[in-house]
Amino acid sequence: MLGEGIIKGLMETARNFAGSYVSKERLTTVQYPEEREQLPEAARNFPFLVYDGQDWQAGLRCVACQICEKECPPKCIYIDKSADKKPDAVGKPQSYPTRFDIDISVCMSCQICVEVCPFEAIKMDKEFELATDDRFGGLLLDREQLARSNEYYHKIHPQEAAEVDSRLAEERAAAEAKAKAAAAAAEAKAAAAKAAAAQAAQDKPADKPAPATGGGGA
Ligand code: SF4
Ligand code: SF4
Repeated sequence: MLGEGIIKGLMETARNFAGSYVSKERLTTVQYPEEREQLPEAARNFPFLVYDGQDWQAGLRCVACQICEKECPPKCIYIDKSADKKPDAVGKPQSYPTRFDIDISVCMSCQICVEVCPFEAIKMDKEFELATDDRFGGLLLDREQLARSNEYYHKIHPQEAAEVDSRLAEERAAAEAKAKAAAAAAEAKAAAAKAAAAQAAQDKPADKPAPATGGGGA
């Protein structure tokens, strides 16, 4: 029948409207901002930068590789790389961003920056109360404004953050094992070189006695 779908839709709306007076399940709205719904784990808005420990500057996981800057479709990430290096999340000396800005008035929340980051350094926030009357400065967030602790990441994406932590712990253990193996190999090489030098000194023929000088007559 023509218009059957529309009638069914309207009936559903009417049922929910009338039912909302008697059943809490049919009450689909909340009294925002006094009441807030729990956002699902996968909810996302704009990116933030994860840091480990207490000091956001020392703990930023970002190594300024600039992959996210290149891959961001609307080009709203701006990064300057440091000239010096600091240890990254697995202890390897890496560059860090001296500038990391995201223009969230341009960001389209696609999450591509998160997908391409090899260092688990950028994740999606759920924060949505970001309205401001400062159209330009207010929506260009710098690295300090973007920095959030790993604890915060666990709070908003518990399952995902736990998986990331275990992946990083594995990487850290592998890096430590590799460094230990390299140190042991270097030690063994030095010991072998020392032993070879000692052996060479032992094998060296004794100095010949100096020829006698002056003549004995017949
Ligand atoms: S979420 Fe998308 S648009 Fe926003 S900064 Fe990341 S890559 Fe760029
Ligand atoms: S957030 Fe990730 S991809 Fe972007 S610069 Fe930092 S380490 Fe590289």
